[in-house]
Amino acid sequence: MKPVAEAYPWLADHWSFFMQRFQNQRLAHALMVEGPAGCGKNALAQAMVAKLLCTENEPGACGQCRSCILLQGGAHPDYFEILPEEEGKAIKIDQVRALIGKLDLTASISHRKVAYIHPADAMNASSANALLKSLEEPAGETVLILVSDNPGRLPVTIRSRCQSIAVSQPDSKMVLDWLKLESNSSDDELAAALQAAGCSPLRALRYLGSSELEAFAQVREGLATLLQRPAAVSMISSGLNELKPTDLWRWLSLCTGDVIKSIMSGKPATWLADSSGLHSKTLLNLQKQADINRRLSSTPVRGDLLLQDWLIRWAEQLV
Ligand SMILES: [Zn+2]
Repeated sequence: MKPVAEAYPWLADHWSFFMQRFQNQRLAHALMVEGPAGCGKNALAQAMVAKLLCTENEPGACGQCRSCILLQGGAHPDYFEILPEEEGKAIKIDQVRALIGKLDLTASISHRKVAYIHPADAMNASSANALLKSLEEPAGETVLILVSDNPGRLPVTIRSRCQSIAVSQPDSKMVLDWLKLESNSSDDELAAALQAAGCSPLRALRYLGSSELEAFAQVREGLATLLQRPAAVSMISSGLNELKPTDLWRWLSLCTGDVIKSIMSGKPATWLADSSGLHSKTLLNLQKQADINRRLSSTPVRGDLLLQDWLIRWAEQLV
């Protein structure tokens, strides 16, 4: 496996920051790897975990010592991982308490214990509270690594006790160059994946050759059609309602943002022949609503009604 800074070149600076701190023994005992989804935060965090546990003195984890082998096999006694028991659910206080109990023990193979909590923002208020003491005074040699797409959802008390390693989205050229190395797709496919992923490299790679690209095209076509034929709302809505809600709302937000950018720059969006008559203010409201609806899609709210309402507002922009 390639070292993380080679596999994901946009993470090279983050990795050297971590290594410098580590080598100078100035690494905080709690780190927060934060930034947008699909930019390799978990890969970066995993590389840090492996380096912190490896017993050899190499620039990264050696991959061969007993610690590295046990970690690869998922059986390292000094490594603890917490994630929600069910996807999309909260990390429970009992999980945090169990972790704290284990961190009190002495490291058995490595020089320290490492805990990896992801997504950290899945901790509810009581779980976060339970973790606070460990963040303030960790037991023995311990490093806690928290990963989050939405650090703003975490209490300030947690965030202020972590050293932040903020990963940002690389620019489109860097993502495109990386995608070219990673796949054999045509330039058109690469451009489409990049657009559908909103410049998020790992997501763009996942989209290549997948049905998601067709779904993204369907969203764009639907939006373009509605501006010409507002009466087609029911038809378009029932088609789009079949798509995965989180993807759908992210794409509706992304496409709306695309039109806003095209109005600002005076360059029409490639998928919308004519954006004259559209107003940034209305579009900004629609984009905001799409982002809210994406968050609502994990609640029992009727998604089909939200979608129909949003599409009617989109279609009525030119009426
Ligand atoms: Zn090793």
